[in-house]
Amino acid sequence: MEEGDLFADVKEIEIDCAKCENDRIKHKAEVLSRKESRGKIIIEFICRDCGSKGTLTFYKKSRTELLEYPPD
Ligand SMILES: [Zn+2]
Repeated sequence: MEEGDLFADVKEIEIDCAKCENDRIKHKAEVLSRKESRGKIIIEFICRDCGSKGTLTFYKKSRTELLEYPPD
């Protein structure tokens, strides 16, 4: 898989959802959109378990992920 195609065809991701009551397990989230900009991929998702929307930013270089949720 090419770096640039990371998450390209992914319809579902697994996240450590901060909004779910049980934060010890991975939660499945539906991918709503996928954007790429300078060395990072930004995925909008909706958690299948709690219905929260958020964004996952994946930094290609460090291969780290950042989860963010809009304020309530
Ligand atoms: Zn959740």
